[in-house]
Amino acid sequence: MTEPRVCILYTGGTIGMRRTSQGFAPASGYLAQQMAGLAEFKNPALPDYDILEFDPLLDSSNMTPADWLKIARRIEAEYDRFTGFVVIHGTDTMAYTASALAFLLDGLNKPVVLTGSQIPLCEVRSDAVENLITALLIAGNYPVPEVCLYFGGRLLRGCRSTKVSASGLSAFDSPNYPLLGTAGIDLQMNWGAILPPPPESSRLVIENTCYPLVGVLKLFPGIQAWMAASFLRPPLQAAVLEAFGVGSAPDHDAALIAAFAQADAQGIVILDVTQCRQGLVNLGSYSTSAPLLNAGVVGGLDLTTEAALTKLFYLFGRGYTSQQVKAQLQTNLRGELTPARPAWQRHSGA
Ligand code: ASP
Repeated sequence: MTEPRVCILYTGGTIGMRRTSQGFAPASGYLAQQMAGLAEFKNPALPDYDILEFDPLLDSSNMTPADWLKIARRIEAEYDRFTGFVVIHGTDTMAYTASALAFLLDGLNKPVVLTGSQIPLCEVRSDAVENLITALLIAGNYPVPEVCLYFGGRLLRGCRSTKVSASGLSAFDSPNYPLLGTAGIDLQMNWGAILPPPPESSRLVIENTCYPLVGVLKLFPGIQAWMAASFLRPPLQAAVLEAFGVGSAPDHDAALIAAFAQADAQGIVILDVTQCRQGLVNLGSYSTSAPLLNAGVVGGLDLTTEAALTKLFYLFGRGYTSQQVKAQLQTNLRGELTPARPAWQRHSGA
């Protein structure tokens, strides 16, 4: 491939919506028509691009795991024809899709940049043009071999991203990992934080063949054992447990802990992440989290909820058993977590 060429996969979201009597809604062909009317998108400094529009276009609140796989398979189908990919997506669940794609696209060696906007492109004041232009430039010109998310001047690792603002134009953050790049006067890539390319011999493969049933359970003061037990039962295969602080749960409630142990005995994997924006889970560091370890719960270190959920989806989707899934959860597969340091390093501060 000599000249860069980018594939834009347009899945929906605010960026391409138009005003209707029911409020903003996506409309087929409308985004491409808007882009064709703007001089910015004809600038020769931009890489050439093709727009592949999904049907139906979705508000990302309606995205499901089947859509994650649909996007991944489309990237696989177009992989050899393009230098990089821009996935236009609604902001509401963009961090989930970015995390899912990071796991699904095994052996990825090209940039896949998710972007969108908080204000539609058709509005006079919009963040759409800058987000889309910069995402195109990154996908066409920078050999970033990973799934990332570009929004509001910041390039984030997809499986570290989370939506932090419903109304601000800097809507995403990567609380436990440095930015992969910033777009100020210059586009500056933080190459030291970007994954190395996969081995020459590796090829893009998507191993997922099924749709495992995974979910999220958030702890709150006063949660009852029966609430947890009614969620944690087959056919559920795994749950992300959003716990307090460094992973704690109310250990005074023996029935609640028993509900976790009972789920584990049924092969339901429970992955403990923190409700805090920043920091990591360390099960056993408080007496309120030690019983979770005995109940079979696995500590999720500094995984976001989005990455934890999609990692469980990915691993069970490959047909792994509960034990095989558990063995992979604290292993860094795509840069989604910071591996635990050995105890001697933590104590010496090394
Ligand atoms: N509801 C929209 C969506 O996620 C919000 C957005 O795109 O900003 O599709």
